[in-house]
Amino acid sequence: MSRIVIQKFGGTSVENADAMQRAIEIVKRHGIKRGIRPLVVLSACAGVTNLLIRIGELSLLGKIDQAHKSISDLDHRHFGILHDLHLSLRSEQEASLHLRYIWRELRTLVRGVELLGELTPKMKDKLLSAGERASTAIFSQALREDLSEKDITVYPYDAREFFLTDSDFGLARPQVGEITKQMKLIGKKLAAGGVGVTQGFIGANKRGETTTIGRGGSDFSATIMGVALSAKEIQIWTDVAGIYTCDPRIVPQAYAQPLISFQDASTMAFFGAKVLHPETIDPAVQAGIPVRVLSSKDPERKGTTILTQPPDGVIVAGIAIKRNIVLAKAVSNEMVPQSTTLSVIFDSLQDKKVIPLASSIAFDDVLFAMEPHEKYSELHQQIDRIATLQFFPKRAMLTIVGQGLLNNPGIAARLFSSIRHCNCEMISYGGASNAINIVIPDDEVENAAKSIHKEFF
Ligand code: ASP
Ligand code: MG
Repeated sequence: MSRIVIQKFGGTSVENADAMQRAIEIVKRHGIKRGIRPLVVLSACAGVTNLLIRIGELSLLGKIDQAHKSISDLDHRHFGILHDLHLSLRSEQEASLHLRYIWRELRTLVRGVELLGELTPKMKDKLLSAGERASTAIFSQALREDLSEKDITVYPYDAREFFLTDSDFGLARPQVGEITKQMKLIGKKLAAGGVGVTQGFIGANKRGETTTIGRGGSDFSATIMGVALSAKEIQIWTDVAGIYTCDPRIVPQAYAQPLISFQDASTMAFFGAKVLHPETIDPAVQAGIPVRVLSSKDPERKGTTILTQPPDGVIVAGIAIKRNIVLAKAVSNEMVPQSTTLSVIFDSLQDKKVIPLASSIAFDDVLFAMEPHEKYSELHQQIDRIATLQFFPKRAMLTIVGQGLLNNPGIAARLFSSIRHCNCEMISYGGASNAINIVIPDDEVENAAKSIHKEFF
């Protein structure tokens, strides 16, 4: 039985001193238990990664003064947080030293970009790493000071020393085998009663060069670390209390599902529910580690626990919504259906690297739902010789998700009767047995989502 939990805090959960203080309380109440110790994984403070990207762009444009001004803004913001935490002089000095080092390095990088007139992906990753390094520099001191009363040691770990990735800067893939080896020592320190703090999102390749794993990657980092340490559970602390039955901005009655299966959670995410990225969940699924999505603003709420198997009795897990998608329709030019038409259409999709969200096929006529993407008009080149291709923008896709869909009769009847006033332009079921997709005009999405929600929840 593992004694380690991963506690990942997103950008808004560490955005200021209050948020950091809440996170510390959460570490104490939901991470540290008898015989259980957390590894805390942090994002950059909210908005910082975007500002760092901007700093890179400004330097590339030669707007160096503005770039330096933005670094000063970062400096003020982080020192403001540090100050508001009211730490002891010693802790404050240690964190300041660390922060100053990070800003110095940033300023050097900015000069480098200016001189070279280029911002390579490698330089950009180094630049972006400042955000997570700065948030952890502050947080680890604050946590250290707080836990010293309980005689618990806090170990700050630089993710670049153990989170090994390939060299695909900007979208580097973690090397789970290597990471597992490198994290053995961390596991030992936690088993001996310590608490770890480290960065999500960043890592290093085997030459020790800083890498990042893609925007929003901290959840993925946390999952990989959980797998490497065979954690008991992975807690994702964010600003929403779990995976909702529907987007609460569209359907105010939506609520957080207490339990959901991995498969339904990733299907929800794939079809538009924004809480977790599906690839985030995958390594934990494989390892059978439960992932909990919790709200740092409301930590006593149960949130959602994502399980390997579907919970008993839940037929429909939720309704995912994707707005402003494009519907593409290819109608064969031949009177008699041709077996070659489909292959031409699918080949051209492959050629343009387009993966449809869902599709519906009748004979050799095809309807696809797709993300709006500039390449789509290029599909004309290949498809036009065999079929007439038309695009319909401003559509929305509603997806009813649930592993219970397959074996429970009557769901489709309830679904369609709940939206009988809606003009349904595409229906797709079966490709994913836990998802029924319907495409409707985007301006009908609110009414439709509310009606479906009322029917099922
Ligand atoms: N700070 C990074 C980002 O904003 C990673 C993360 O927060 O997950 O993309
Ligand atoms: Mg995030």
